[in-house]
Amino acid sequence: MSEVIPKRKTDIGPPHYEKFLPPIIKENYGKWKSHEIPRPGVLVHTSETGAKLYSVRAGSPRLLSTTKIKIYADLADKYSDGYLRFTSRNNVEFLLSKEQNIDPLIKELEAIGHPVGGMGNALSSIVHTQGWIHCHSAATDASGIVKSVMDALIVNFKSMELPGKLRIALACCLNMCGAVHCSDIAILGVHRRPPKVNYDKLPKICEIPNVVASCPTAAIRPTIVDGKPSLEVQNDLCMYCANCYTVCPAMPLNNPDNDGLAIWVGGKVSNARHEPMFSKLAIPFIPNNPPRWPEVVDAVKNIVEIWADNAQKHERMGEWIERIGWPQFFRLTGIEFQKVHIDDFKHAGLTFKRSVHLTY
Ligand code: SF4
Ligand code: SF4
Repeated sequence: MSEVIPKRKTDIGPPHYEKFLPPIIKENYGKWKSHEIPRPGVLVHTSETGAKLYSVRAGSPRLLSTTKIKIYADLADKYSDGYLRFTSRNNVEFLLSKEQNIDPLIKELEAIGHPVGGMGNALSSIVHTQGWIHCHSAATDASGIVKSVMDALIVNFKSMELPGKLRIALACCLNMCGAVHCSDIAILGVHRRPPKVNYDKLPKICEIPNVVASCPTAAIRPTIVDGKPSLEVQNDLCMYCANCYTVCPAMPLNNPDNDGLAIWVGGKVSNARHEPMFSKLAIPFIPNNPPRWPEVVDAVKNIVEIWADNAQKHERMGEWIERIGWPQFFRLTGIEFQKVHIDDFKHAGLTFKRSVHLTY
């Protein structure tokens, strides 16, 4: 008889999610019949067995200390049998099986400064990347801008008065690990100068073929400088993406005078009503202005207010712009249309307008 080989233990990958499901979700798996949002920040799922699951959503600061995680864990122990989860936009969501625990949980969350809301036709937490706190290629900050914007729009997180869902994202460079390509409003850190090669350091710390291969526009070529293998950048091909800096610290492109932000609009992931959409450029450049970034806050607030005043019920930002047309979007928001708004990327064919039908 062949020997039964015990299942191999591995630490590769996360444990199976089923291990962490609250009992009420396990018992009603595949049986959820409907859901509703009876008030901002509270979602009720009803199962065909009659069971109900109450999710209470609160904003989080995204960068979490262990102290804060312990506070969340204590609240979960007290009100939701120890179960909570984080949404992809960094809200914290407590999964309650007892309706009577909703009000005391909300009271405690608000007492420690965590607004409850972010569901339905509202602004959800603003997802953001690392910014100056952590990432090497950041053209701007992340947490500081998001805090400033969120302070100005907090009423839209706590209520459901907006026409549709509003998702804002921030990525501090155009490698955009922050969902900026598919959010209603995207705040995007941009560099505007090519990398500067440090010829002394480069041969000691970088692998030349890797750096050449890292450039998406083939702007980097091998060369010899002072008899040593090195690299040169063809500036007119560079799109300031910082990919080369990621693999080679001897090619920094951070520049305090020329780094800043761009604002993009109209992206979404959902395929409700309209297929998913990519965001498009609205404001090409706003200089960095810490610690409260007033120009960015005003720009985002202006776009939100114009959309809220003019969109139809449930209409997302991109759907609204598509209905009224881009010329009207620029007219209503007062944003200046510039030549950089014209998409001249070599693969831009699909974005060109091909019909004679004009929307004004
Ligand atoms: Fe780093 Fe860019 Fe990601 Fe920001 S968006 S964390 S700068 S890679
Ligand atoms: Fe190439 Fe991007 Fe580096 Fe420019 S910043 S040289 S486009 S990898």
